[in-house]
Parts: sequence; C-alpha cells; structure tokens
Amino acid sequence: MSSSPLSLILTRLDALAGACGQHPARLLAVSKTQPAAAVAALAAQGQRAFGENYVQEAVAKIGELAALGLEWHLIGHLQSNKAELAATHFDWVQSVDRPKLVDALARYRPANLPPLNVLIQVNIDDEDSKHGCAPEQVLALASRIAAQPRLQLRGLMAIPAAHADPQHSLPAFQAMAALLQRLQADFPQADTLSMGMSADYPQAVAAGANMVRVGSALFGARPARSTDAPH
Ligand SMILES: *Cc1c(COP(=O)(O)O)cnc(C)c1O
Repeated sequence: MSSSPLSLILTRLDALAGACGQHPARLLAVSKTQPAAAVAALAAQGQRAFGENYVQEAVAKIGELAALGLEWHLIGHLQSNKAELAATHFDWVQSVDRPKLVDALARYRPANLPPLNVLIQVNIDDEDSKHGCAPEQVLALASRIAAQPRLQLRGLMAIPAAHADPQHSLPAFQAMAALLQRLQADFPQADTLSMGMSADYPQAVAAGANMVRVGSALFGARPARSTDAPH
C-alpha cells in the first residue's frame, strides 16, 4: 500500500464523499512551475488531469508530454492575446470571466478538436482581485458561452480569499454552491464546481465542490518561476 501524497489525497476525497453521500470530487493536480518530469511521475501513479496557470509554460509541457494523453486545464488568468494558444492546447479553461474572452476562445478552438470545456471564474469575495466576474454577471456570460458551438459550458470556478483558518472560507464556498444551483436551473449541462486548494479542499468539498485543485500538497513546495512573462 503506497502512502504517496497522491494516494493520501485520493483516500481523503473518498472519505469526504462518503460523509456527504456523493461521488468523490475530481482531483486536478496543479503543476504550475513543476517540471514535465514531475508531471510524468504523477501520471505514472494514475493521475490524468493537470492544471496550469501560465500559458507558455504549459504549452511547452503539454507538447513534451503529448504521448501520455493527459487532460490539461488552464486555471490562471488568461489574457485575450493568448486565447488562441489556450484554445488550441488545453482541454478546459477554468478562468473565463469576460465576454471578449468567450468570443476569442470560440473563434480559435480548432474544428478538429472537441468543444473546449469552459468554467466561469467568479470573484466571490475578494474585492481587490481583478480576476473573475461578479456573481451578477454569471448568467449573461453563461448564455454567451452556451451560444457557442465550439465551447461547452461546464460550470463555475472560484478562488476565495485565503484565511488562516480554512473554516472561514465556508461562507464563500457555500455562496458558490448556491450560484451553481441557480446556473443549473437554466443550464443543466453546468455540472462542475471547481474550488478548494491544498489548504482548504476539505471545506470546499463539504460545501459542494466536485473538483478540487491541489498543488503544493501533491508536489511539495513550488520551485520559483523563471520563465514566462508575469501576468
Ligand atoms: C496554485 C493554484 C492552486 C493550487 O494551490 P496549492 O495551494 O498549491 O494547492 C489552485 N488553484 C489555482 C487557481 C492556483 O493558481
């Protein structure tokens, strides 16, 4: 029986699902700043879905690891001038937060690939953050995504403000769960709620997350970034 970080986290997600009577939340391994070799090592343990923040860094890794057939999610802020690269190389973009980005991703998603899976990033409680749309904007953005045949609306993503005590993130996680329910009333295809990171994924799952994004608890502390432009 292995006690790798991966197997410990999967066991924890199983236990959390048992407590809530649901399917276990999907684990997205956040591999930003990690070398391709670290991704390959986790893939060899069975992990399929990986999250990246920086488009150029990710595209290099995706190319290097193409033979492994992994599923790649963009979770970092996306500038419109990188929408073509993102639409070409990723399977999911979780950081869609404005109409212009919806239109650009739809325009550039190659016809030979399946529709790009899209999550709307919501700025649920962080007034200082420039990223994520306001909760009031979700339905309009969802309509715009749903009208695009090259995009598939899959749900919502949030990065609530961090708290020393992760219990204090519960209200934001619960507000996101309520927002997903509202979205699903009009768009039943929106089946994904992506929230929770290394420090607070149990609280996110307790509130209803079915995808958690875990980096440092899986890979250890992140190496500093040296490549790619700041965003
Ligand atoms: C880095 C990052 C994560 C993972 O954070 P950890 O604390 O390392 O688990 C999750 N989501 C987003 C959007 C991130 O940028």
